[in-house]
Amino acid sequence: MTNLSRIIIVVSMNLKSKYNFLGNNLAVDFTNTEHIAHGDVVETLQNLNDFYQWTSEAGLEAEAFSKTDSINEVIELRTSLKELFVSAADDNSLPDKALKTVNHYLLNRSETQQIKKIDNKMFLEPKYKRLSLKRLLGVIAHEAAQLLVSPQLHQLKHCSNTKCILLFLDTSKSKKRRWCSMDTCGNRAKAASHYLNSKKS
Ligand SMILES: [Zn+2]
Repeated sequence: MTNLSRIIIVVSMNLKSKYNFLGNNLAVDFTNTEHIAHGDVVETLQNLNDFYQWTSEAGLEAEAFSKTDSINEVIELRTSLKELFVSAADDNSLPDKALKTVNHYLLNRSETQQIKKIDNKMFLEPKYKRLSLKRLLGVIAHEAAQLLVSPQLHQLKHCSNTKCILLFLDTSKSKKRRWCSMDTCGNRAKAASHYLNSKKS
């Protein structure tokens, strides 16, 4: 192997994110930060640095977190959202305690906007471009709340791989999306059914 190809492999490994953005919704993607690999649950939000990385990949701009911020709040909101989304995907009633937690984080949302003038044209833009941890959790809670009160909630599905815990909004026209990703669960299912069929024949 040449040095150049070795460098390319190292760079492409670093570029591969540990986060999935396949849920078609920010709050759903947030709950997908916990996934299954080789049969074990993988926690990708071990600390606030991980969350900072996730927010940046999700297109949110975080300000430096303060010393009093804790990953526990992030996990508390995610746990409640996951409970709500799983209940919705299973057509069960939404648990009150989890709703209460989301309502608590919704209080952190700041909608403050300011008028900006560029070339004599007016634009509204958020006052806070970089968000504190509280405001970030408020933004995620708000995305979740909008989904929970919308008819789109019926599009929330589990990946059809029973060993996968990822969720997604099926925004496909046919509403027949089955897999979190064709590259992983979809292809694995195809390969398994191909193997079974070849054994039968
Ligand atoms: Zn899957």
